[in-house]
Amino acid sequence: MEPSVTVVGGGYGGVAVAKALDPVADVVLVEPRDTFVHTVATLRALVDPQWTDQIFLPYRRLLTRGRVVRDTATSVDETGVTLASGARLTPDFVVLATGSGYPFPAKMDAPDSSGATARIRETHAALAPAERVLLLGAGPVGLELAGEIRAAWPEKSITIVDPAPDILSGQFSGELRAELRRQLDEFGIQLLLGTSLREQPPVEFAVAKTFTVLAGDGSELTADIWFRCYGVVPATGYLSGALAAARRPDGHVEVTGQLRLPGQHNVFAIGDLTALPEAKMARAAAQHAAVVAANITALANGGELISYTPPPPGISLPLGPAGGASYSEDRGFLGPEGTAEAKGRHLRLDAYRELLGLTGNS
Ligand SMILES: Cc1cc2nc3c(=O)[nH]c(=O)nc-3n(C[C@H](O)[C@H](O)[C@H](O)COP(=O)(O)OP(=O)(O)OC[C@H]3O[C@@H](n4cnc5c(N)ncnc54)[C@H](O)[C@@H]3O)c2cc1C
Repeated sequence: MEPSVTVVGGGYGGVAVAKALDPVADVVLVEPRDTFVHTVATLRALVDPQWTDQIFLPYRRLLTRGRVVRDTATSVDETGVTLASGARLTPDFVVLATGSGYPFPAKMDAPDSSGATARIRETHAALAPAERVLLLGAGPVGLELAGEIRAAWPEKSITIVDPAPDILSGQFSGELRAELRRQLDEFGIQLLLGTSLREQPPVEFAVAKTFTVLAGDGSELTADIWFRCYGVVPATGYLSGALAAARRPDGHVEVTGQLRLPGQHNVFAIGDLTALPEAKMARAAAQHAAVVAANITALANGGELISYTPPPPGISLPLGPAGGASYSEDRGFLGPEGTAEAKGRHLRLDAYRELLGLTGNS
């Protein structure tokens, strides 16, 4: 008898583990959205209408034997998964892969692809005429959004504000940060670091409305639109029963080296929701998925379990299709040309289309 597996969440980690287990297990993937969202390209989708539709990839070809159920897990405990529809699943194994939320446009706030596409188009129309853009947050999302806006609209004034003394966090090399700062300077993007606004902008983010706020030094900042480029929230509020103990106050979930919840034999967690000490990345979610697929196969067939070790920090950060910088242990440092080739021009869309079985015109 093959094991039954419920994967909760069809993002980068969920689709990878569901697909890996499809040949050897009875897989059900639970996901509230009608399509996979290629989050890596959402910021390009905002500035370049040719990309807008392309980030939504249907699930219909992902699994050959298993099925994708459009529903939401409202409660998951050590005995099973309860869905918003009222259905109750009691599989042999559960993989939690519900990821995290992030303010639009980095992640979608509409529940389906047609609503999300409309929201992107509406925000594009709001952003296009804006002369001054304010971005709060100089992490990867703030920098990448600044680069995308600059590539699409060379004449706009773009200002990034962050209370931290430097761009990105401390885990990346000085060389990478210096190169990104050099390019931001070349692009005329203003960085206000080590300071916060004295108050939040008086208008909603991603909405066209001119406003003035005071920077930390009391100077006035006027913008026509702003975006919130911080605020990741792990999606783990559904954990209940014995599983709730694994949830940290910040929402991340503790996992063992084998990516099980502590004390649990058959409940695994992968991707952004894990409390692992590493940057939250699609690439990491896929590596977690491979470890969990191997471990569920081993538990079902009596083999050895394997452990996950977080890799050294690495990042590929495009600033528009032609700019940016990258660092990884295997490839070392890459400047704008290398970053554009490795990621910036195509944003790995084809690799994810292939994962979802969408080759050619399918
Ligand atoms: C703008 C941007 C650019 C990025 N670029 C890169 C990059 O270039 N490279 C990289 O490696 N990483 C990148 N990342 C990070 C990457 O997107 C995340 O690390 C990745 O999405 C994590 O995958 P995940 O499967 O854990 O979760 P997610 O991709 O967040 O997917 C979680 C899924 O679970 C579903 N879900 C949520 N709650 C429930 C529930 N209760 N029941 C059922 N389903 C649920 C959601 O609808 C979603 O589909 C980027 C992030 C952003 C915001």
